[in-house]
Amino acid sequence: MIHFDNSYARLPQGFFARVAPTPVAEPRLLALNEGLAHRLGLDADWLASPEGVAMLAGNAVPAGAEPIAQAYAGHQFGGFVPQLGDGRAVLLGEIKAPDGVRFDIQLKGSGPTPFSRRGDGRAWMGPVLREYVVSEFMHAMGVPTTRALAAVATGETVWRETGLPGAVLTRVAASHIRVGTFQYFAVRDRTDALAALTDHVIARHYPTANGPLSLLDHVVARQAETIAHWMALGFIHGVMNTDNMAVSGETIDYGPCAFMDVYHPDTVFSSIDRGGRYAWAQQPQIAVWNLAQLATSLIPLMGERDAAIEAATKSVHGFAPLYQAAWMRRFGEKLGLTEAADVQPLAERLLTLMAGQRADFTRVFAGLSDGSARDEFIERDAFDAWAADWRAQDPDPDLMRHANPVRIPRNHRIEEAIAAAVAGDLDPFHRLFDAVTHPREARADWDDLAVAPLSEQIVHQTFC
Ligand code: AMP
Ligand code: MG
Ligand code: MG
Repeated sequence: MIHFDNSYARLPQGFFARVAPTPVAEPRLLALNEGLAHRLGLDADWLASPEGVAMLAGNAVPAGAEPIAQAYAGHQFGGFVPQLGDGRAVLLGEIKAPDGVRFDIQLKGSGPTPFSRRGDGRAWMGPVLREYVVSEFMHAMGVPTTRALAAVATGETVWRETGLPGAVLTRVAASHIRVGTFQYFAVRDRTDALAALTDHVIARHYPTANGPLSLLDHVVARQAETIAHWMALGFIHGVMNTDNMAVSGETIDYGPCAFMDVYHPDTVFSSIDRGGRYAWAQQPQIAVWNLAQLATSLIPLMGERDAAIEAATKSVHGFAPLYQAAWMRRFGEKLGLTEAADVQPLAERLLTLMAGQRADFTRVFAGLSDGSARDEFIERDAFDAWAADWRAQDPDPDLMRHANPVRIPRNHRIEEAIAAAVAGDLDPFHRLFDAVTHPREARADWDDLAVAPLSEQIVHQTFC
């Protein structure tokens, strides 16, 4: 059983629509995250029981749950859409973990809601399994992120370009409140609701913040850390729309996300990102752009307008130095260096070499602590010259081993695991999950998962 303690469902009218998940034909548990269940104080055996699976599939709404679809707006690729909202997800409710931390329990792919527009409210197995494995890898590396509690097959067909097996993901988050949630009320001139939302977010995520400007400062700081961490892992979110940016600072909405194999700053995977708006190197600027939208939404709560605009602008400009510091710390750790002073030129020189020689991002950094990084370069002299300067800084191998995963969820491995799962074999998925949720552990039987893709295995494009 689950003890719910819902707070979002107490907010005023207009924040959400009450809607139950739509039952599915034949629920079948694909994956259950026992580690996360334990962290949440939930009984994994019960979750895996028919009663538990019925809840995870949306076939039974447990006592205390108050399923709602949350309203939000958002800028999608720069264009404002005044109403988006949960079109294929319902928030079952919130729980408090044994340590008192509050979490949202959300079903994604659980059927239509009043916000579905033309969508079917469903998800297919591919994106569900991708989000499951990628979000749990991010967590294992210490990146703030929503998490995956379970994946359930629906036994129903979802129609995309073709018929595909449906699935429901149980997503766990500090909250699902987005920049777009603030925009939703701002564009409607609902200052009362904005104030209620601000109070809610402060109480829930930033209890030390006082007032909307202080809240903005906190979100800016949290996002600077999160984005710097993405950069340090070669992660490309893919759809950094304002509705996909959580005010908690957690990474949210894993759609066409991907990790770079070969390093290049302009790398884009998403099939819908034709202009490269959300390329790897663009992510910090886009974060600022999104935070400016949050700032704009909060201005009506900040008193006299000109002064509010000035203060909010200053707050958003605070991102750059915070991000820069976080980047230096992250890349410093990757190089085994704690002395910030020498990090930037060394890191930039290495990245330039990597881009020029099409070196594998993950393997170069993982290879710094065991000497194998050199093998990733074609022109070894240039690397050797860099490495001599780097070694002179006396890098700490333990720091490097902590910062640099030996294994990431490689795109071709994810695709392979999805294809096998669709064909009924979940072993590759579970193996990939185990391997990437122990990302720093060198293990011979997982060595194949650390290998970069052969040219014919490279995934060039990802789809939502
Ligand atoms: P996303 O691109 O995943 O961030 O989604 C953008 C918007 O489209 C959100 O309002 C989603 O709830 C909605 N949406 C995405 N896929 C579906 C679907 N299959 N059915 C209904 N709504 C969807
Ligand atoms: Mg979204
Ligand atoms: Mg999505």
